[in-house]
Amino acid sequence: MTFEKVNSFLRKVAPLAGLGEKELDILSTPQNILKAEMEVSGKKYPAFRVQFNNARGPYKGGIRFHPEVDEDEVKSLAFWMTLKTAVADIPLGGGKGGVRVNPKELSKEEIEELSRAYVRAFYKDLGPDKDIPAPDVYTTPQIMAWMLDEYEKLVGEKAPGFITGKPLEVGGSKVRDISTALGGVYILEEAVKKLGLEDKKVSIQGFGNAGMNAAKLLAEYGYTIVAVSDSKGAIYDSEGLDVGEVIKIKTETGSVVNYGNAERISNSDLLKVDCSILIPSALSGVITKDNAAEIKARIVLELANGPTTSEADEILHDRDVLVLPDILANAGGVTVSYFEWVQNLENESWESDVVKKKLKDKMIDAFEQLWDEYQKHGYDFRTVSYVHAIKKVVEAERKRGRL
Ligand code: NAD
Repeated sequence: MTFEKVNSFLRKVAPLAGLGEKELDILSTPQNILKAEMEVSGKKYPAFRVQFNNARGPYKGGIRFHPEVDEDEVKSLAFWMTLKTAVADIPLGGGKGGVRVNPKELSKEEIEELSRAYVRAFYKDLGPDKDIPAPDVYTTPQIMAWMLDEYEKLVGEKAPGFITGKPLEVGGSKVRDISTALGGVYILEEAVKKLGLEDKKVSIQGFGNAGMNAAKLLAEYGYTIVAVSDSKGAIYDSEGLDVGEVIKIKTETGSVVNYGNAERISNSDLLKVDCSILIPSALSGVITKDNAAEIKARIVLELANGPTTSEADEILHDRDVLVLPDILANAGGVTVSYFEWVQNLENESWESDVVKKKLKDKMIDAFEQLWDEYQKHGYDFRTVSYVHAIKKVVEAERKRGRL
């Protein structure tokens, strides 16, 4: 989503958070925008790190490798991270990184070289007390391990807290691999209870870290997954897909569309299938004014960042569809990243059940607080979440004397 759109939503909710021009200015201006050009096998790739706000703690946010990455997109994502860490109530700020590249066209060696080049370009501005990266679209725990290795070489000391989402062998946290999906499931369960929803049919767009793990967990929690998709297309079965089998097919063949026992549908039809819960888990801007009226779900759980446009948001709110916004719905990832960072700084390793319990407490606390506000004010859930987060960031700015 363009930063202009993000900013116009910020301006819209600003009066509800009691913001004046000075506060708005701070909230709509990234503190640092770092840029570099990376060269791998004779080809050049633009790279970015946007450090949006550190009033509440060191900048925190993933690095994306994707052909559509640009400075504007990274800015929007870094802004959302600032709000997300505030909603999750963890002592971190917001940042984001990205490289404009199609990693599917690179060999494993070239991806390693690109990852190390990224760290060489920005390492002086990164670090466990400054700015802590993590994975995002098309970046993996392995990439985090290469980046950590490069960083430690450059600074000449061990610094596992420099990056999160690492493999367990180099200081990663248990549960981090499923944390975004699991955090989403915890709050979905609460929302389902609040609405008294009995029909639990789910449609999921995107079948990567967020979408595939959501499908797996929700099937375990007794939900029926009727549709899933990836970049190659979507599959649908009104009676429910065999999620274990779909995961196997995706792993073996590279796409869910090779699962034979279901109807092939398009990625746009997936948004409109008969279901009570829709989970966008791929790209931004997919729920728009052109399809919002046709969405049948009662709850939209935004595991992806920015999947719903503002116009679509209004249509969904008018239709009484509960949109659980990205800055809450996918905050499980950054929350366990925070736990990973704490474990690294304390030289500890927590068991899975400890991490899950801490994550559940954080997600449910955040949801309950926002639900109370939602009941009180009648704004849509995104507005309520923004206002809550913005106030926390502004208060931290004020306490620091920067306002
Ligand atoms: P991923 O790279 O693991 O998976 C992305 C998935 O989206 C893949 O299955 C891909 O095939 C699919 N996809 C790509 N283009 C598509 C299209 N046009 N239609 C349908 N599917 C398409 O990425 P991820 O980590 O799962 O991230 C997905 C979303 O969740 C992103 O918006 C990301 O910012 C957000 N998110 C992820 C995390 C995390 O911890 N992984 C945390 C917070 C937010």
